[in-house]
Amino acid sequence: MGRPADETSGEAHGEFALIARHFTRPPRDRSVRVGVGDDAAVVAPSPGCELVLAVDMMVEGRHFLPGADPETLGHKILAVNLSDLAAMGARPRWALLALALPDEDDAWLAAFSRGLFALAAEHGVDLVGGDTTRGPRNLCLTIAGEVPAGAAILRGGARAGDDLWVSGTLGDAMLGLAALEGRTTLDGAARAACVARLERPSPRVALGTALRGVASSMLDVSDGLTGDVAHLLELSKAGAVVELAALPRSEALDRKLAGAERSLALQCLLAGGDDYELVFSASPTLRERVAAAGRDTGVPVARIGRIVAKDGLVVNDEQGAAMAALPRAFDHFAVRRP
Ligand code: ADP
Ligand code: MG
Repeated sequence: MGRPADETSGEAHGEFALIARHFTRPPRDRSVRVGVGDDAAVVAPSPGCELVLAVDMMVEGRHFLPGADPETLGHKILAVNLSDLAAMGARPRWALLALALPDEDDAWLAAFSRGLFALAAEHGVDLVGGDTTRGPRNLCLTIAGEVPAGAAILRGGARAGDDLWVSGTLGDAMLGLAALEGRTTLDGAARAACVARLERPSPRVALGTALRGVASSMLDVSDGLTGDVAHLLELSKAGAVVELAALPRSEALDRKLAGAERSLALQCLLAGGDDYELVFSASPTLRERVAAAGRDTGVPVARIGRIVAKDGLVVNDEQGAAMAALPRAFDHFAVRRP
């Protein structure tokens, strides 16, 4: 990194020691020819594969609060990137980490790297490089993965007549956030489960790769179902009809949907971000293969609706009537309404 003239050599020494202590591990994979320590990493992609690249940034005060648990942050900055690769049907392999940190806090770094490397090990990902600088806390991870040439699952492939599917359950992360913010109450176990969904999402990597050759389009739900499905429909030049009753949800969310907190529950289910589930379309002739992909990877999959020719997203309520106003998905640059 470039260093300002007023920075002391002591700090430079600290930076390299910090990288050596917290971010240098022997590569697990022979594909890593050169990892942390040189000017750049050198990796050998598998023959016949294309590279799939994504980057995600998490900013203190925007994506997490000052004082957030560092181990959780280490998990999450990798998890959100793995989810993007999962949504392409790609196998994640190599990561680059760019960090801005306000101070050299060894305990913070040890916990952060513990969270990061634990999830990296689970998915066979090697950290091959990065950049470290002083500044307002900012975590930025670039992930590289592979997919057999031509096999990536894009957002634009949905066709009228396809089924629409979603993995896991929707809305728990936002319900956990609402509980943390005191906007709702949950019993102990449900609260812990929802907060875990928010803080330690499980990217659906195995399901994503299992859906190669099956899903016609796919994306991950990071900003909320309705907004994310709208992106898929736009690129597919199609519409969709989704059945509210078919949306998979936890018992805790289901109880709120049936009770006095229905509007919060609808917000969570339809527009709650941070679930990192996969939404995908597939031909009705492939229903058994979708079910098999779910079974083989231990991730439930639910058929929530269908792709139609007419533009736009329609959500039918439990009585089958189109819902008039859909909760809005999260958008960092949306105009804030009072
Ligand atoms: P340069 O001056 O060439 O940018 P740096 O001093 O920034 O090199 O980094 C030295 C080595 O440490 C490089 O291999 C870089 O990829 C790696 N690195 C720096 N920060 C991180 C980090 N946070 N995580 C992993 N590797 C890092
Ligand atoms: Mg650098």
